[in-house]
Amino acid sequence: MERVYIGLGSNLAEPRAQLESALAALDALPQSQLAARSSFYGSDPLGPADQPRYVNAVVALDTFLEPLALLDALQSIEQQQGRVRKDERWGPRTLDLDILLFGNRRIDEPRLTVPHYHMHARAFVLYPLAEIASSDLPLPEGGTLQALLDQCPFIGLERLA
Ligand code: ATP
Ligand code: MG
Ligand code: MG
Repeated sequence: MERVYIGLGSNLAEPRAQLESALAALDALPQSQLAARSSFYGSDPLGPADQPRYVNAVVALDTFLEPLALLDALQSIEQQQGRVRKDERWGPRTLDLDILLFGNRRIDEPRLTVPHYHMHARAFVLYPLAEIASSDLPLPEGGTLQALLDQCPFIGLERLA
C-alpha cells in the first residue's frame, strides 16, 4: 500500500460542493482509503485571470492501485463531475484532481509525471499539504516539504472557514 497525496481544485458550479463530492468519490475508490483531508482554501487562478477564484484542498489516500490505474480513476471522477477539457490551458473547470506524490516514487510516463511538475511553486498545493503531512515529509528528489514551503510564500491564498 502507498500513501498518495492528491490536489483538488474547482472554480465552477459551486466549487465547495464539487470538492465535497470528489472527497466522497475518492473515499469510494476500490482498494483505497481516504486517510486525511486538509481545510479548503481560496486561491487566485493560474493562467487566464478572467475566471472565478478557485477552491483547493489536498487529501491523503492510502491505496493499492497502481499509478496509472489511479490516474484513470481520478479522470473518471473529473468527468463524472462534468469536467470539459478545452484547448485553453488552466481554464475554468468543475474539478481538477492531480497526483502530487505517490509514496516516494518518481514516475515519468507520457500520461503521468510524479511528483507533480509544478507542486513546488504552488502555494495552494503546499500549504494544504502541510496541514496533513509532516513538514519532514521526504520528497523523491531529496529535500523535505518544509524546504519547499520556505521557498513558496503564502500569497493569493486564504484558508476558508
Ligand atoms: P496542471 O497539470 O498544470 O495542474 P491541469 O491540472 O489543468 O494543469 P489537466 O488538463 O488536468 O491539467 O491534465 C492534463 C494531463 O496531465 C492529463 O491528461 C494527465 O495525463 C497529465 N498528468 C501528468 N502528470 C499528472 C499528475 N501528476 N496528475 C494528474 N495528471 C497528470
Ligand atoms: Mg492541475
Ligand atoms: Mg489536472
